[in-house]
Amino acid sequence: MGKAIQGMDFICDIDGTLMNIDHRRHFVEGDKKDWKSFEENIKYDTVNKQLNNLINLIEHIRWDRFEEETYDDVTDFDVGNFKNSVYYFSGRSEKLREITVVQILYATFREQYSLDEIFKLIKNEATDLDENYKLWTHFYRQTSNNLFLRADKDYREDSIVKSEMLDKLIKTEMVNEDNLIIFDDRQSVVDMWRSRGLTCFQVAKGDF
Ligand SMILES: [Mg+2]
Repeated sequence: MGKAIQGMDFICDIDGTLMNIDHRRHFVEGDKKDWKSFEENIKYDTVNKQLNNLINLIEHIRWDRFEEETYDDVTDFDVGNFKNSVYYFSGRSEKLREITVVQILYATFREQYSLDEIFKLIKNEATDLDENYKLWTHFYRQTSNNLFLRADKDYREDSIVKSEMLDKLIKTEMVNEDNLIIFDDRQSVVDMWRSRGLTCFQVAKGDF
C-alpha cells in the first residue's frame, strides 16, 4: 500500500484491544501455563465493537459499495484527498496468522457472517454465502499484508517484539511517527510506545 502525504497511520493490537480474550486468560495466569488451550480457544474471542467501529471509520470503509466498485477502490480508503492506514501488531506467533486475519475480518462482518463462514469465504469454498465471494481472497491478502506477528519460536517480551515491528514498518512503509496513533492494552507495551515518544491510546488496564 502506498503512503499518502497527509494520511494518518494507526497501529492496532489484537488480544485485549480489537478482541476480548478474558474468557481464555485464565489458561496462562496460574503457575502452570496452558498455552495450548489458550490458543485453541481463540475462536471464542469476542469483538471489541466500539474499537472496531472506530477502525472502520478511520478506514472509511463503505461496505455497501462493493458491488459497484472495483478492487482498487476497495483498497483505497480515501478520506478527502488523503488516506489513512491501519496496521495490526500482535504478540501472537506466525502460526496463528490465518485465524487472526479471519478474526479481523469477522470484526467488521460479524453482522453478516460467523467466524466459520469467513473461513470458508477466504478459501472460496462458500460461493452460496456471498455473490462477492471472489473479493474475499483479496480481503484476506490485504489484511494479511497489514498484520505483523512474532516469528514462531520467538519468546521475547511483547514490548521488544512490537518495537522491532515498528522499526520494520518505518523502513518498509515510511510511516510517519509524528502522524501515528497506537491502540494497545498491555501496560508494558504501552510504556514502550510512550518511551519512544509515540501517542498510544490504552484501551484497558492491561496489567498482566
Ligand atoms: Mg494486547
